[in-house]
Amino acid sequence: MEIAADVAVIGGGMAGLVAGTVASQAGLSVVVLSRGHGATADCSGAIDVIGYLPLATTPTVSAIEGLHLLAALHVLHPYSILGLERESLVVDGDVVVKRVQETIEWFLSTVAESELRHVGSLDSTIMACSPLGTLKPTALLQQTMWSDSLMDEDNVVMFAGIRGYPDFHSGMAAKTFLEERQALREGPRRVINCTVDLSNLLPVSNLSAIELARLFDTEEGLRHLAESLQSHVEGTGASHVVLPPVLGLEHAATARSELESRLGAEVIETISFPPSIPGTRLQAALEAALERAGGRLLKGHEVVGTETSKDRVTGIKARGPRRSVSVTAKSYVLATGKFVGGGLAGDERGLRETVFGLQVFDGDRMSVTETRPQKLTDLTWVTERGHRLYTCGIGVDEHLRPVGLDGRVYAANLFGAGAVLAGYNYITEKSGLGVAIATGHAAAIEAVNFATEAKS
Ligand SMILES: Cc1cc2nc3c(=O)[nH]c(=O)nc-3n(C[C@H](O)[C@H](O)[C@H](O)COP(=O)(O)OP(=O)(O)OC[C@H]3O[C@@H](n4cnc5c(N)ncnc54)[C@H](O)[C@@H]3O)c2cc1C
Repeated sequence: MEIAADVAVIGGGMAGLVAGTVASQAGLSVVVLSRGHGATADCSGAIDVIGYLPLATTPTVSAIEGLHLLAALHVLHPYSILGLERESLVVDGDVVVKRVQETIEWFLSTVAESELRHVGSLDSTIMACSPLGTLKPTALLQQTMWSDSLMDEDNVVMFAGIRGYPDFHSGMAAKTFLEERQALREGPRRVINCTVDLSNLLPVSNLSAIELARLFDTEEGLRHLAESLQSHVEGTGASHVVLPPVLGLEHAATARSELESRLGAEVIETISFPPSIPGTRLQAALEAALERAGGRLLKGHEVVGTETSKDRVTGIKARGPRRSVSVTAKSYVLATGKFVGGGLAGDERGLRETVFGLQVFDGDRMSVTETRPQKLTDLTWVTERGHRLYTCGIGVDEHLRPVGLDGRVYAANLFGAGAVLAGYNYITEKSGLGVAIATGHAAAIEAVNFATEAKS
């Protein structure tokens, strides 16, 4: 099959779907090719923008503060590249903050139209509760994961597990949560736990998050959960109930409101470990946004070949479940993720970018293409900024065009976005989805400008 489009996007995670949606909203024809789910569908449900600066041990007060400091200290960070002035090589922090703010606002309103609402902003870092009972800094959370009043002193906070669901130990989470609060002399003084029994509806061992989410999308499942929780809430006077993140794939916000009105207590979900129901909700909301904007998503299509001529990418070939597809476009966005997504791979030949064979750099723009996986246990790869492996990726110029070792642009119509980019460590910084949104949006604007000029 042959497809001609204005913009072709390789990768269907956060960066690729943001890029595809923005380009479609600009009125261009867009095709997004996705091999399968990447890191986005595995994410915890928190949208991190910048939780920690490199080397810092305390969280940023706000993402805005973090972005300003990054712009001043780390020119090669993907956020900084959004405000990089080519001539002076100076990063304008105000430009970085403005661009990230605008893209986050765009993201929030776009996924809200897919019925996925978030709380939080770039003005202050908020703390998300993990299934272990620990807190992690982030910028935005799915609405069902946040309560303004969780940390009030007089609360009785109850962690509630589900019998047979092995991924959430309510007793351990409650203990950790309480011990951390006591150590920091903050938060509720009474933290308890319970386990509810849904054995009349589901087996009592090895329940999965997806089984529970599907159950709580039904009226019957939700009613049983409420009834099972009721006696625990009444018996303890719990003001807040903390559940694992399984309150449905489709109607989590409604499920939460119904539970709250039946129980007379606030209900929140924790953030998630993979496999992630909140990540699945996010992935579905992004795919729906692309569809609404008129973009075409080819799932299960892996790009296995590329064609270039002079300084342009002229076509890509993908292998699909039933047939191969040749795509020609005026501009291309590479948003294939890092190791989880499949955009980078390592073997005995070294570290590679998997689609175009682009140069791979570390966070300091040192070449790492010769690095073999066995070298990665070398202690020199573990720096105070975390493991260098996580900062690896492709290097881009100020228009997000991939560059080689000599700084030359690989192709004038190819733009990189998301986790495939070098220069940041989302694990230590807590910046993963924020970078994917901001660079996906920026790459789309570059791709749209290029395609529009090529058309005229
Ligand atoms: C377990 C886990 C939890 C995380 N939790 C958080 C969190 O709570 N908050 C946060 O902000 N960040 C989190 N992150 C980081 C964040 O998820 C990623 O940084 C972000 O999702 C990257 O988005 P992306 O679109 O660049 O890549 P991905 O989401 O990985 O998407 C890459 C896409 O490219 C496709 N692809 C790859 N190669 C090809 C090919 N040849 N042809 C076609 N398609 C291809 C993949 O199939 C996939 O669709 C987490 C990451 C992991 C792994």
